[in-house]
Amino acid sequence: MTDAFERKDILSLLPEELEAEFAALGEAKFRAAQVFQWLGRGVRDFEGMSNLSKELRQKLNDRFYLYEPKVLSKQVSAIDGTIKYLWELRDGNAVETVVMSYKHGNTVCVSSQVGCRQGCAFCASTIGGLVRNLNASEILDEVLFSELDSGKKISNIVLMGIGEPLDNFDNVMRFLELVNHPKGMNIGMRHISLSTCGIIERFDELAERDLQLTLSVSLHAPDDETRSRIMPANHGRGVEKLIDACRVYFEKTGRRISFEYAMIDGVNDSPEQAKLLARHAKAVSAHVNLIPLNHVEERQFQPSTPEHLKRFIKILEDDGVNVTVRRRLGSDVDASCGQLRRKMQKTQRGGQNA
Ligand code: SAH
Repeated sequence: MTDAFERKDILSLLPEELEAEFAALGEAKFRAAQVFQWLGRGVRDFEGMSNLSKELRQKLNDRFYLYEPKVLSKQVSAIDGTIKYLWELRDGNAVETVVMSYKHGNTVCVSSQVGCRQGCAFCASTIGGLVRNLNASEILDEVLFSELDSGKKISNIVLMGIGEPLDNFDNVMRFLELVNHPKGMNIGMRHISLSTCGIIERFDELAERDLQLTLSVSLHAPDDETRSRIMPANHGRGVEKLIDACRVYFEKTGRRISFEYAMIDGVNDSPEQAKLLARHAKAVSAHVNLIPLNHVEERQFQPSTPEHLKRFIKILEDDGVNVTVRRRLGSDVDASCGQLRRKMQKTQRGGQNA
């Protein structure tokens, strides 16, 4: 990635690539390590890298750009301490990041794109369509600056913010390498989940990378009629092909897939659908994560009633399926992901819908 002056994105480079760049500049290897360390501490200005000579700082500034994401909005839940950030990116676009605290540590939920082209009918992030992909460095900075700003050490990452990670495959893979790097934030792959609406064309490529991350598949409906109604990504693919792709992925990687299932009143919460979901889950040894639907202003869907949720869980459990219900965090701050960015867009447009 380059800027208007053809400068490169230094932060998207792995330590070994940075060394190669420094070698090309006639600089010693250890200089690259020093710069990597500064970047890892959140320094976003070559002037601040005090152990480098003035000449080197100038050389770097001519060749690379740096940018520090700005907090456009920060909401802290009074109930559970969940923090929602809206960051301003270098080109004025904005994305959301959420920091959630659990007993086992702090989880950050990051965005992978500005907007999304997948068009799920219940999701706020996709309403204005896709604007652009995030660079690896922009995703990395969501994690780093959330940690620096909140003072909460991040131990887990979920790629469940705005965007479809498998539609931004190369940048997301590079982000994973960077954040997992022993010289970087060193967050273990087993502490990372990647969520997809089911872009099965990418499953093999992902499996071949043999990462130890958890693949979460947004299933949301066990039958084609319902799934195609709420998820355009189902068109031309279909539930059967998706389940097949999950089975192959599980066989190749030995990593259990997690099915995400947002409970939508009268749409996907019938007993028949629970039985069909149980069948799919067992076919691929998947874990089922039920999500109480977050109501989105622009969408007509409502969350399932507590009775229907209970009935649904019981059918799954009676069938021997491993099921959990996602705890709703930060319910007193802006609800589902994508809404902060939406709000800002609306204010910028004088209250008009995009
Ligand atoms: N594009 C990826 C990541 C999206 S966000 C994907 O589709 O998986 C992570 C999860 O939140 C997905 O399962 C998504 O379907 C779900 N989600 C989106 N809008 C929601 C809402 N209003 N309520 C509950 N879950 C929602």
